[in-house]
Amino acid sequence: MKIYNTLNKKVEEFIPNVEGKVKMYTCGPTVYHYAHIGNLRTYIFEDVLEKGLSYLGYEVNRVMNITDVGHMTSDSDTGEDKMEKGAIREGKTVYEIADFYEKAFFKDTEKLNIKTPETVERASEHIDKYIEIIEKLLKDGYAYISDGNVYFDISKAKDYYKLSGKTAEDLMIGVRDTVEEDKAKRNPGDFGLWFTVSKFANQDMKWNSPWGIGYPGWHIECSGISAEYLGEYLDIHCGGVDNIFPHHTNEIAQSEAYFGHKWCNYWVHGEHLNDKEGKMSKSKGEFLTVSLLEEKGYNPLSYRLLCLNSHYRNQLSFTWESLDGAQKAYVKLKNKIKLLDRTPDLHESKLDKYIEQFRGAIENDLNTSNMITLVYDVIKDDDLSDFTKLYLINEFDKVLSLDLIELESSIDDETDKQIQKKIEERNNAKKNKDFSTADKIRDELLEKGIKLIDTRDGTKYELI
Ligand code: AMP
Ligand code: ZN
Repeated sequence: MKIYNTLNKKVEEFIPNVEGKVKMYTCGPTVYHYAHIGNLRTYIFEDVLEKGLSYLGYEVNRVMNITDVGHMTSDSDTGEDKMEKGAIREGKTVYEIADFYEKAFFKDTEKLNIKTPETVERASEHIDKYIEIIEKLLKDGYAYISDGNVYFDISKAKDYYKLSGKTAEDLMIGVRDTVEEDKAKRNPGDFGLWFTVSKFANQDMKWNSPWGIGYPGWHIECSGISAEYLGEYLDIHCGGVDNIFPHHTNEIAQSEAYFGHKWCNYWVHGEHLNDKEGKMSKSKGEFLTVSLLEEKGYNPLSYRLLCLNSHYRNQLSFTWESLDGAQKAYVKLKNKIKLLDRTPDLHESKLDKYIEQFRGAIENDLNTSNMITLVYDVIKDDDLSDFTKLYLINEFDKVLSLDLIELESSIDDETDKQIQKKIEERNNAKKNKDFSTADKIRDELLEKGIKLIDTRDGTKYELI
């Protein structure tokens, strides 16, 4: 697979640390408000990347955090605390805000068919890990205590600017523009690892630490959670392009200082969704949510299709006209698929060509629009039986997740009972080591368009 690596600024062959296995970390939402559809574009891209890797046969271990503490509106150490901002806005506690918007986030991702990563961890529940990392950074001279806070000294980091390509001068311009320059820092670009002294002295979320009662900085959360669940070598780290600096830059600095070696090989970033004024963001007041799209009569999956039709590395300008277009295309496509005849007639010899092309689209820096084109190509191909078309579309939808084939509606209770009976017969045959009968049952069902899938929780089936 080839993928664009922000670290080396080029498309590269993806080679994981351990053959066949991928350790993937993706920055999660800051749960102080609803996710806007720009944020969700990034999660759609990460979802397709995870599913694409799985489709290619990799075993993907993906971890995501929930940021419920420490994230400032500036993404650096200045501005307001996002969680406090949410609490004040709604007259609730920070914990209530975090709980409400975390649930809202997963409701939205579910509507967009975004798979929840196997490991999702709240930042506020890993304080001990951050303390352990910060203690080591202090001991090794990468961090220092000043005015009660602990900072990371960026002058000690090896090649601090390697991810962003920014220079110290670029950074100085940003700092000069910032009114709230922190005099406690040795270098203007240093960032907070632990705060005991801040303008948010009254905030709810605070913990004991060797440096006094306080709370962690935003960046240390991702380094800590990644270290805890994925260990010291990471294959892929994702996020939106706004995360490149300062967030991911700081993650690299502290993680590599902590581990004493290179940490993550591939940094993969999704471009922004823009509105008329530029990058869609929550600070602008009004912003677009999944619920708003639904209220206006859009299927959230039309938005998923809109995103998949553009490449993750291109900016996407959101307009209602483009969403209208995506919705029309989506309805039309589903209707075409609905008309396909489900009589079992699989042309196995015709599958490889398309499956190879589909894999090729994944391997080509996650070319999602090519994947969609392939769905249309299959539908148009007169050489394929309808059943073969359905089989292929079902394969592609494992990555696209557009619900292109509606399964539930076509299986009635009676058929389901019969299939379950066959599954039981097959399980008994397997128990008795009568594998030829077991295989026969599987093949007979496959002939009828029912594919059995053996999982850890038992045998399931899907229609092809
Ligand atoms: P946040 O909840 O603010 O921490 O952001 C969650 C994710 O959304 C991060 O990975 C950001 O990089 C990403 N993001 C923020 N704004 C946009 C946007 N307009 N388009 C795409 N992704 C975005
Ligand atoms: Zn992060």
